[in-house]
Amino acid sequence: MTSFDSHFTMTIGGQSVDGAATFGVLNPATEEVLAQAPDCSAAQLDQAVAAARRAFPAWRALTMAQRREYLMALPAAILKHSEPLAQLLSREQGKSLADARTEIGACGQWLQAQSQLELPVVVNEDSAERRSETRRVPLGVVAALSPWNFPVLLAYWKVMPALLAGNTALLKPSPFTPLTVLKIGELVREALPPGVFNVITGGDALGPMVTAHPGIDKVSFTGSTETGKRVMESAAATLKRVTLELGGNDAAIVLPDVDVKAVAPQIFWLSLINNGQTCIAIKRIYVHRDIYAEMANALAEIARTVKVGNGQAEGTQLGPVQNRKQFERVVGMLDEAKAQGLQFLVGGEAREGKGYFIPPTFVDNPPDDARIVREEVFGPVRSLLKYCDIDEAIARANDSPYGLGASVWSSDIAKAQAVADRLEAGSVWINEAAHLSPMVSFAGHKQSGIGIENGVDGMLEYTAAQTRTVRKPPAAAAAT
Ligand code: NAD
Repeated sequence: MTSFDSHFTMTIGGQSVDGAATFGVLNPATEEVLAQAPDCSAAQLDQAVAAARRAFPAWRALTMAQRREYLMALPAAILKHSEPLAQLLSREQGKSLADARTEIGACGQWLQAQSQLELPVVVNEDSAERRSETRRVPLGVVAALSPWNFPVLLAYWKVMPALLAGNTALLKPSPFTPLTVLKIGELVREALPPGVFNVITGGDALGPMVTAHPGIDKVSFTGSTETGKRVMESAAATLKRVTLELGGNDAAIVLPDVDVKAVAPQIFWLSLINNGQTCIAIKRIYVHRDIYAEMANALAEIARTVKVGNGQAEGTQLGPVQNRKQFERVVGMLDEAKAQGLQFLVGGEAREGKGYFIPPTFVDNPPDDARIVREEVFGPVRSLLKYCDIDEAIARANDSPYGLGASVWSSDIAKAQAVADRLEAGSVWINEAAHLSPMVSFAGHKQSGIGIENGVDGMLEYTAAQTRTVRKPPAAAAAT
């Protein structure tokens, strides 16, 4: 394994570019500065947008097959350098090395699969007088804004369909986790025509500058619902297209017929996947009263055996919360729960000392109006909620401004399907959760988002419909 040097540069117009200034990126397990990242100035953002605009006409003029050939360099570079990328990702994000390897591997495979997508052409009419078809054309320059929980996968799964559809792109990762994304930009810099793909990084000021920039045609954003609303507002000024993948507060409804011993470990890990910092993790667990005690004991038992620590350490299963702001937010929610007199089945106390560590925590049947139930908890804290009848459980699950995912757990699939039919969410799973695929539409309902990612529908979001009509000459019409 070769490791990377510690100098991180932006990619603008195919060139290596240092920031006008730099900012420190912390390792959340130690709170030490891991590296400096470039801080893109307004002038450098203008340069990146101008480079992307210049590259657009020639890039869109290529065939899909030609673009695909170029773009295969992306998954190839990620998979070729997977080990040093995973090491870097684990250090900047905090996740265990095993989870970082999974994210890097999944990203490579995701991009390979997405690269095979095709844009549909719909023939509307093919008569004696005319031929009309609706095809999909690229939008121009796409800005991709991504979060810190899966910094690589959620950023690059935007880049492949945007570029394949014929757009040029600008990627801006979260300031908390910019390093691995920058490195991948460096690795593919020479494989793509200059300006087709640009990577810029900066502090809190950069995102709003990107969404307000008049030279950008589309913003694909993944992050919190709160920020998503600001992105949409800013994009409105120039009517930029937006895709928003936002927060979630996914309910799992567990029917009384499940085998608790078999289901509890699955529910545990689908709740605390990536240390609970996953948009589609199970966040509210509704358990029928007949099995509530057994489920509560099983989840608490698993929580006590989980190894929480530095992601780099051998055997670590869950790392720290990714950043101080998020850590303080989760600790604030725990403090509020304590002040309300809520009980914990397990956990509840952040660890003293360096690093943003919170052990797996389950809250014992809090009321529905508790903040810990109403709001998305983006960390290793979950609520176990007791229900008596299924209509009540469904109503409580749906009583949320969010609608990202939901799951139903039962040994009777027909019964589970009937419950699933009534759930308000973009993805509904039965006897699993949080399963996504590069070829399958992923969309948030309600305040969990606007638009779709992944699959053909996801790629269509990077295009505009163009209907072309050819009036056939009278001779041709007569001959047909
Ligand atoms: P965030 O909203 O704070 O930031 C996301 C990105 O937007 C970052 O790159 C950030 O720098 C940028 N940004 C911040 N303010 C901006 C502004 N005013 N204008 C433009 N850009 C701005 O989100 P986060 O804390 O990084 O991520 C956690 C959230 O993301 C959670 O709510 C989680 O549920 C959500 N999320 C959703 C999905 C999904 O697919 N639905 C996936 C992962 C995470």
